Amino acid sequence: MQKTIYLADETALLGLAQQLAQSVSQHQALLRDQGLTMYLLGELGAGKTTFSRGFIQQLGHQGHVKSPTYTLVETYELPPWTVHHFDLYRLADAEELEFMGIRDYLGTDRIVLAEWPQRGEGYLPSPDLTIKIDYADQARSITLNARTERGRVLLDTMECETSS
Ligand code: ADP
Ligand code: MG
Repeated sequence: MQKTIYLADETALLGLAQQLAQSVSQHQALLRDQGLTMYLLGELGAGKTTFSRGFIQQLGHQGHVKSPTYTLVETYELPPWTVHHFDLYRLADAEELEFMGIRDYLGTDRIVLAEWPQRGEGYLPSPDLTIKIDYADQARSITLNARTERGRVLLDTMECETSS
């Protein structure tokens, strides 16, 4: 299942990210035992970190959402979830994820949001949802793609809300 949405400005993009977080909260009983993985795709400056900020703040984080470009991962404790926001742009070799103890990040009750997931291929869990952001001049278009049944459940809820 796939859905493409046109977003006129940053506020609209943040709104979509918030809607996704609300959908996650709504289905948390179903999602928690296996965790959730989302890949963020798109060029530099497309809005992947902006989307992550909207998502993480909607789940309850009050402060700044820092781009994990240099740290590779920023973790947020947002009960009942632990959110790991990865940015693998600067990762030279996917195997580095093994050395940083990637397995410790992948238990239950966790959400992985990953920018540049291609660079961690073979080490990151496979996605429930891919979120691709494309430039449309100053605006953006976002394509959400459900890759698992759990991703489909999330997308279903969002469709109800966006089609109204
Ligand atoms: P990425 O993480 O994909 O490299 P960022 O989220 O860090 O991108 O940056 C996106 C930039 O684009 C921000 O400076 C944001 O203000 C700007 N921007 C302009 N229009 C939009 C839009 N419609 N949606 C998201 N970001 C936008
Ligand atoms: Mg970024």
